[in-house]
Amino acid sequence: MTGEKGMLYLCATPIGNLEDITMRVVRTLKEADLIAAEDTRNSIKLLNHFEIHTPMTSYHEYNKIEKGRMLVKRLLKGENIALITDAGTPGISDPGEELVRMCRDAGIAVTSLPGPCACVTALTLSGLSSRRFCFEAFLPREKKERRRILWELQRETRTILLYEAPHRLAETLKELYETLGDRRLTLCRELTKRHEESWETTLSGALKRYETESPRGECVLVLEGKTREEVQEDERRVWENMSIQEHVDFYIGQGMDKKEAMKAAAGDRGVSKREIYKELLNS
Ligand code: SAM
Repeated sequence: MTGEKGMLYLCATPIGNLEDITMRVVRTLKEADLIAAEDTRNSIKLLNHFEIHTPMTSYHEYNKIEKGRMLVKRLLKGENIALITDAGTPGISDPGEELVRMCRDAGIAVTSLPGPCACVTALTLSGLSSRRFCFEAFLPREKKERRRILWELQRETRTILLYEAPHRLAETLKELYETLGDRRLTLCRELTKRHEESWETTLSGALKRYETESPRGECVLVLEGKTREEVQEDERRVWENMSIQEHVDFYIGQGMDKKEAMKAAAGDRGVSKREIYKELLNS
């Protein structure tokens, strides 16, 4: 029960093909008191196409705090508001998350109307494992944070999904190749559009192609995760070059206490904890 309060509707809109809008989204957009759109100039085309005449206001990255407060006030007064973005599902690499938080804090009901989402579309047609996956959205632009995420991805065993803009694709492919090594990649471009492509290749194959060709269209990178055996092998190579002390310190650095760290190091080396303890006493 929402009482007198209104409801926030997160409405997924097409990522290319207008036929992908759901009937429920069209009806909700028609019936809402207000549509909050990431870019009103962009969304007006969609609304005109479906003959939706609901008033629109902008809600985007740069006004999300004060506009969010205004939207919450209207919702508290009983208005129903639909949130849309330029394409796809609100809150997925798009505005939405903060407004949902604000609504929840104010006791306003939120519902999400499912529909197009580039990462899910890409995953399902990639041919790579879709049982376990991680969505990394756009890699951060800030260098240190970007390196940290890439480092974490090195040992990721799930299928990895990344968003990228065409003008940064070549550089991102190069960085991925250099940090993750070569691996299977399905490069999905222009999804749901006339020139849709889902190209099964490798990081090195994609790099080669874009040495001579300018990438066109929005794309999603679907990368194969490592096998557990590969991760274990990588770890073995790391600790093989460590002293026992360094090996134990490594695990302590990962948040383990000394006892756990000695147990983990002993397990890696196939020796008893007592041997590790003895070695540490002698070092
Ligand atoms: N909210 C959107 C969603 O649900 O997928 C994502 C918005 S994000 C700002 C835009 C990015 O999504 C693009 O840079 C691209 O990586 C991906 N994307 C959106 N539409 C796409 C399409 N038709 N084909 C491939 N990738 C697309």
